[in-house]
Order: sequence, then C-alpha cells, then structure tokens
Amino acid sequence: LTCSIGVSMYPLDANDTVTLIKQADTAMYAAKEVGRNAYRFYTADMNARVQARLQLETDMRRGLLHNEFFLAYQPQIDMQTGRAAAVEALLRWRDPVRGVIPPTEFIPIAEESGMIQALGARVLRDACRQVVQWHRLGMMLRLSVNLSVQQLQHDSCLAVVEEALRSSGLAPQYLDLEITESVIITHPEKAVATLAKLKERGISITVDDFGTGYSSLSYLARLPIEAVKIDQRFVHGLEHNSNDVAITQAIIALSHSLGLRVIAEGVETRAQYDFLKNHGCEAAQGFLIGRPLEEQEFLAWWKAQEEHARAVLLQPDMWQPEGSG
Ligand code: C2E
Ligand code: MG
Ligand code: MG
Repeated sequence: LTCSIGVSMYPLDANDTVTLIKQADTAMYAAKEVGRNAYRFYTADMNARVQARLQLETDMRRGLLHNEFFLAYQPQIDMQTGRAAAVEALLRWRDPVRGVIPPTEFIPIAEESGMIQALGARVLRDACRQVVQWHRLGMMLRLSVNLSVQQLQHDSCLAVVEEALRSSGLAPQYLDLEITESVIITHPEKAVATLAKLKERGISITVDDFGTGYSSLSYLARLPIEAVKIDQRFVHGLEHNSNDVAITQAIIALSHSLGLRVIAEGVETRAQYDFLKNHGCEAAQGFLIGRPLEEQEFLAWWKAQEEHARAVLLQPDMWQPEGSG
C-alpha cells in the first residue's frame, strides 16, 4: 500500500471547507502525477493545470464524436528479405484548432478518463479493416496494434478484439498486439490469463519498449509472447554509447534463447541497421525505413519498395533501405 497526500491550508488557500477540500484533492492528484506515494501542497497553478487537462478531455470527447482521430501506419521490414512484412498502427488526433496532436499527449488522458476503451476499440476495428483492404491488393502485411494496460485488464478485452476481427474479416494470424512492460508489473495474473486466450486465438503478442521497465526475466519467460521490441533509446545509442551496445546485444541474445523474435524500433541510420542485422535482429522499424504514413502515402511507399525489391531480387546484398544513399 502507498499513500498520496494533498494539503491545503486555512486561511492561506481558502476560507471555507468546501474550497479547502477541493484544493487538497487537486494537490493529491498532483502528488499522484509525480509517481504517487508523495505529498504536495496546493498551489494556484495546479488549478490551471487541472483546467487545461479537463479542457483536453472535453475536446477529446468531441473529437471522438466528430471523427477527429485517425491512424498512421509505419512499415516494419524483415531483415532477412529486406521487404515490408508488417505495419504498426499509430493513433493521431487532428484537433481543429491545434492541428495534429501526438499520442504521447493524449493517450495518458484517455487512459485515466476511461476513454481509452472506446478509442482503443476504434483503433483495432479501423486498423483491421485497413489491412484487409491492403490484403485485397495483394499486400500481405501483418498488423501491430498498441494495447494499453487498461484495455488488457478490461473484461471486454477479448470481445473487443474478436469484434474487430469479425467485422473486418482479418485472420487472427495477421494480428499482433503490442503491450508494455507495465502490463507485466501491475496485474500479472489477470494479464497472463487474457494474453493466453489471445494466443489461443492465434494472435501474437509483442512486448513494446523492451528494456525500459522493470519486468523480471521470469515473467518474460512465463508470458505467452512471441517477440520483444527493443526500445528506441538503445537503438539511438548504438553508434556512440557502449552501454547501449551491450544492452542491445544482451536483449537479442536473451530473447533468442527464450525463443522470441526481436524487432528494433527507431532505426534512423544505416549504421544502426547494419549493427542490428549483424547481431541477428529479425525486424526493423524506424525513420530510415519509413515514417508513420497515412493510408494513401503508405500505399505509395509500399509500391516504391516493391519496385525496389524487384530490382535487387537477384542481388539481395545490394538492398539499401530508403534514404540511406
Ligand atoms: P510506440 O508504440 O513505441 O510507437 C513508436 C513511436 O516511435 C511512434 O511515435 C513513432 O512515430 C516513433 N518512431 C518510429 N520510428 C522512429 C524513428 O526512427 N525515430 C524516432 N525518433 N521516432 C520514431 P508516436 O506515433 O508518437 O507514438 C508514441 C506512443 O503512443 C506509442 O509508442 C504508443 O505507446 C502510443 N500509441 C500510439 N498509438 C496508440 C494506440 O492506438 N493505442 C495505444 N494504447 N497507444 C498508442
Ligand atoms: Mg508500439
Ligand atoms: Mg515502442
């Protein structure tokens, strides 16, 4: 058990009990925001922050109604063949006033407010439909969708995934769900049970941002997962940080000995790409290969890479990822 405390002071902050309690409540949320198990004294700017947050939440509800959310797709290539093998669906929000807002800004609010259930269900449904459309064009890509802890812990999780598969017609073998290590830390038993059911259905599970959390290795071995995604920060450090090199090598070796595939994320340079390939990493994703793109742009990217792959089919060693000169 941990304890988060908010403090407001009479008569410094307010003169009546209702306001004092409200302020103490606001201060308690500020204590939770810094990671819980802390105390905070009420300050006036806390109120402004709470207001801004409430406004964002209201705007998001409107955005959900008015279809302001859309998906971008980032390609993932198989390092053996050099061809696109999968896409990751990444959520975007186009606010009419502020423009496109990245998920790092609004996903935490969606998670706290419970909106992630409706939003996440829509992401799954839309992404599955999109990939089925691409399959009809002969683009046999697998699909990765990010799943929040809150979604995995919700009783409707399996039904929501089932419904996305059913309404789109996507075969479960093409679906991969990305979870973070926090899933493993918070509610392991329930999470493991749900993950096991998803796996039974033929859906694969990947641990995203691997290496940043605190998951124990024994959990990693116990979880019904297929792959780990090395966190970007290790990939970015490959050229100049010997710790990142050591950690990346260790993650690849550990994953392989547990029978897991390894995907590298945030690959931006040819040197990073070569290092990962030479160390047996199976797949790569990052700006070097392709940025997250909207549907039509992604189609154009795919056609270009297919032409390129055809051109070097007889000399696979010649393959160079886009933008590497
Ligand atoms: P993530 O799942 O780890 O996604 C990878 C992020 O890294 C994406 O940011 C992507 O645009 C970015 N990225 C990819 N390649 C590179 C690169 O070469 N260099 C750099 N610097 N960045 C790269 P994005 O789209 O802003 O997403 C951030 C996070 O938001 C995601 O991290 C994921 O945790 C969350 N998220 C996105 N969409 C959803 C969703 O539909 N549901 C849930 N629950 N979370 C989502
Ligand atoms: Mg991800
Ligand atoms: Mg990641």
